[in-house]
Amino acid sequence: MTKIKRLLFLCTAIIYLIPLVSCQKQDKTAADLVLLDGKVITVDSDFSIQEAVAVKENKILAAGTSSDIKKHISPKTQVIDLEQNTVLPGLIDAHAHMNSLGEELTSFNIRNCQSYEKIVEQVQKEVRTKKQGEWIIGGRWDHTQWDTKQFPVHDALSAASPHNPVYLARVDGNSALVNQKALEIAGINQDTPNPEGGVIIKKQNGEPTGVLLNRAMNLVKTHFPPETDKNWKQKILPAVDDCVRKGLTGWHEAGVSEREIRLYKELIDQNRLKMRVYAMLGEQEIPVIDQDLYSFFKNNRVENYGDHFLEVKSIKLFFDGALGSRGAAFFRDYADDPGNKGLLRITPDYIYQVCQAALKADMGVNTHCIGIRGNRLCLESYIRALKENPAPDHRFRIEHAQIVRKQDVDLFSEHQIIPSMQPTHCTSDMTFIEDRIGEKRCQYAYAWRSFLDAGLPIPCGSDFPVESNNPFYGIYAAITRQDHDRNPENGWHPEQKMNREEAVKGFTIWAAYAAFQENILGSIEKGKYADFTVIDRDILTVEPEKILNTQVLYTIVNGKIQFQSEHVSNTDIEYNKTMEYD
Ligand SMILES: [Zn+2]
Repeated sequence: MTKIKRLLFLCTAIIYLIPLVSCQKQDKTAADLVLLDGKVITVDSDFSIQEAVAVKENKILAAGTSSDIKKHISPKTQVIDLEQNTVLPGLIDAHAHMNSLGEELTSFNIRNCQSYEKIVEQVQKEVRTKKQGEWIIGGRWDHTQWDTKQFPVHDALSAASPHNPVYLARVDGNSALVNQKALEIAGINQDTPNPEGGVIIKKQNGEPTGVLLNRAMNLVKTHFPPETDKNWKQKILPAVDDCVRKGLTGWHEAGVSEREIRLYKELIDQNRLKMRVYAMLGEQEIPVIDQDLYSFFKNNRVENYGDHFLEVKSIKLFFDGALGSRGAAFFRDYADDPGNKGLLRITPDYIYQVCQAALKADMGVNTHCIGIRGNRLCLESYIRALKENPAPDHRFRIEHAQIVRKQDVDLFSEHQIIPSMQPTHCTSDMTFIEDRIGEKRCQYAYAWRSFLDAGLPIPCGSDFPVESNNPFYGIYAAITRQDHDRNPENGWHPEQKMNREEAVKGFTIWAAYAAFQENILGSIEKGKYADFTVIDRDILTVEPEKILNTQVLYTIVNGKIQFQSEHVSNTDIEYNKTMEYD
């Protein structure tokens, strides 16, 4: 190259580079999305309130006053005027079953039946739409809502559906009613012994009543027709849509299979999963004896798949049953069922073994425990494993932690075991819990204040579809301990209420913490993912009952508006129930 040519080349290069450099400088502060003039509840360490927030790509660029944030507006920035509405960090349901919500939304549903007779009528109608021999699978019945308050017996159901096997799960998913045809297919009769961790309820003459508790349900479930991947997506996607409409940006799925992990990855690859899922590896997947648990956990651990849309960093175990079906485990008998102390589905030693392997595989353990015995024995297993494998940041959780004692709260605290709780379980169960377990054991039931005062965070969830997936019902229940008509006055055991800030933290930063995600999610701070729930009222100040009717205006996930209410725009993304999901 001659000198002149070289000079010319250099000049041209500089001319081209100048705008590139200035462009890059501008891009650094120019936001893609800005929310202005609202009340931004940041849930940062000071619980500070701001007016505006700026988003760049999928992360938060800044939160501050509207005049500060306006500096980030460029011609390409989408600007939303909040009109003094409220922005929360994206709400996270810390314990839920999207799978079952999808089933509830898309399959045979009898939740609204107020008696067994009504259910039988519904099944009779359903039979007419089915081919002979085809399964009828659905449920959500709740005998505590019927006049009889008794578990049903299958005879009427079997008469209504003699040729089609019927499987109807109870509302809490811990028991099911099946008909004679289903019992036949599963080979269950008067001689069938109870399987480990389950009960086949029998009549006085020894024949099964059709009600199966806990692990006994699997005897029938294994005969279900296999679900295709397409069917799975067809039930998950409408359920996720429903949650996004209710203001959720993420959830912790309490139990997934290897197959579901693969399918969630597929949805993320196809850019079709609208919420972030922190999935717990499910117990059904764990080989029960003489297994290489460590390799199984290590192989299924998922760290940050698709901008943290999927993570699998814990194992879900199921220890005792539920209160509604008297399966929750206690040291003493149920007050309304002498001789029954509830049941344990797995042994404390098995929990310990799972913990050992989980700690080596760098995973947490989240165990379903409801009764005092369930909670206590689980804590002891956790502590035994943690003493042998010290892990200061283990994030072990007990899911539900419903009924404990003072000394158990102390153990939670001493070993930083996280109580993962569902405020609406309290307000649903308060109607019958005193009959079940007596007044004394209710002192530390849903003991939020005791746990909080012991220095523990409480990630909050709903356990949907056992309870509604509406997070504002959860926040209301947390601060009132009342039903939607504000009963009982002052709330059930009002000394255990959360305050509003705590309830909001439960559905945001504490949920993130319980998933090892507090550095990327759970608050509105620079550098975190841009997940927001924009609502039409200030839930920190409105009267409690007004929280119940909170309207979600926008649900923003990863910087993208995934739901927008009709109240804020004419170009609404209409929720369409007939939408095709494949
Ligand atoms: Zn659950």
